[in-house]
Amino acid sequence: MTACEHNRKISAYHDGELPGEECRDLEEHIRECSTCAQELEQLRSLSRLLAAAEMPGMSSDVLERLHSSVSSVREVFVLRTAERVMTVAAALLVVCAVWFWQTAGALDSGIERLEDWEIAAVWPQTEAPAEASAEEMLAQWMVLDLSQENGSD
Ligand SMILES: [Zn+2]
Repeated sequence: MTACEHNRKISAYHDGELPGEECRDLEEHIRECSTCAQELEQLRSLSRLLAAAEMPGMSSDVLERLHSSVSSVREVFVLRTAERVMTVAAALLVVCAVWFWQTAGALDSGIERLEDWEIAAVWPQTEAPAEASAEEMLAQWMVLDLSQENGSD
């Protein structure tokens, strides 16, 4: 098959994409040029084949595989998104932990400057230092002593 300069237009002519005048010129050429006529015939037979071939209906198996591949792609996307969120959350947790550790350290050093009685005054009773019970005993002793004095009167 020898190449023809009009050969590249055959596909456009076949698809009806050539302008009117160019289309008529090519039709005249095709009658005289066996190369272009052969090219056009090949395109037409290919078109007939495609038109004749029934588009295969997708079986439920194929559809199922398609769906699963789509959902696996979605799962991968969700997993990657979750991974990123978890990474950010972990980073935030670390930042918060460091901040809390530093703040707690500052609070601890502040508490160390307080007197024992100050701590006892503000500390929850369940976590009261051992000194508190001694003070309680002293208070109870004083109350007992006062009541005895009242009784003697
Ligand atoms: Zn030609």
